[in-house]
Amino acid sequence: MKVAVFSTKPYDEQFLKQASQETRQHELVFLETRLNEATAPLARGFEAVCVFVNDQVDAPVLEKLAEGGIRAVALRCAGFNNVDLKAAQRLGIDVVRVPAYSPDAVAEHTVALILTLNRQIHRAYQRIRDGNFALEGLLGFDLRGRTVGVVGTGQIGVGVVRIMRGFGCRVLCYDLHPNPEAQQHGAEYVDLDTLFGQVDILSLHCPLTPDTHHLIDAAAVAKMKKGVMLINTSRGAIVDTAAIIQGLKSGQIGYLGLDVYEEEGDLFFEDLSNTVLKDDVFARLLTFPNVVITGHQAFFTRNALESIAQTTLANLTELQSRGQCANQVTGLS
Ligand code: NAD
Repeated sequence: MKVAVFSTKPYDEQFLKQASQETRQHELVFLETRLNEATAPLARGFEAVCVFVNDQVDAPVLEKLAEGGIRAVALRCAGFNNVDLKAAQRLGIDVVRVPAYSPDAVAEHTVALILTLNRQIHRAYQRIRDGNFALEGLLGFDLRGRTVGVVGTGQIGVGVVRIMRGFGCRVLCYDLHPNPEAQQHGAEYVDLDTLFGQVDILSLHCPLTPDTHHLIDAAAVAKMKKGVMLINTSRGAIVDTAAIIQGLKSGQIGYLGLDVYEEEGDLFFEDLSNTVLKDDVFARLLTFPNVVITGHQAFFTRNALESIAQTTLANLTELQSRGQCANQVTGLS
């Protein structure tokens, strides 16, 4: 297939070209720009677009893509909350994704955030470079014996369960569909309110859906233990950032680790170091000493990029040869 690859970064090009050389089945054209209504006409004459998490794949964009001959959207990620699946179905555009490329990459980054926040590695790093060897303010806690809450126990959530059980933590889980693998690792399923009330560390691993939008709002924060650690490596809008800021100001939230942010589309994946930060909410988050933010990098390992590139191309090959694909996303997924 002739594929327009949107939001291309050098690493996307490197890994996709490498995978493509092995199969030689698709013609890839790399575009740095993000997909949106203004850039959709660039895909005219192509058969498929390949997109990432912050590309806009809503109804108006899909209509423009369909007009230009696009028959497939290949997501090079697991989440598909940025795609209007109903519109895609109506327009006869197939949507495929990479359901699992390296759940371990995201689970391990989640734990990196937990350890960084607990042991104040981000502050220690700066202090040492400044010749400040004082320990005041860097006090952590032993993870062993603490209670960790995991919301969403799919592939990534189970990875977090496994690692945190390895630290000797009690792990409570909530999911619409409990996963026996989490239980095999010694986790217990409880209802959401029980989880909120008992955990010292809460980590989010459910997808962003209408049901999980602002799942962590002011009411949820009020149910948590004072000083709770909140980690979100899933999708930004699962937490209501304004409520989280209030929680940080009151001390109800003691630590916050984010790899995703509600309005990340305007910020993440770009070097904005020479520009003025216009997002006041994000700027406020940066002022807290007990907040660590990474820019949607949890997936970013060599293993994951290889796997994303290979699966993306295999999805397109399968669509081309069979007219359908095991990794197809429908409105029912
Ligand atoms: P998965 O589909 O394997 O697991 C998701 C789990 O969430 C499922 O068990 C599902 O039953 C559960 N779930 C769905 N709705 C729920 C609800 N309302 N309440 C509680 N649980 C619910 O997905 P995964 O591979 O584990 O990925 C999880 C999420 O992580 C993705 O949706 C994506 O948003 C995010 N992600 C982030 C990065 C990153 O780089 N930060 C990378 C990959 C994925």
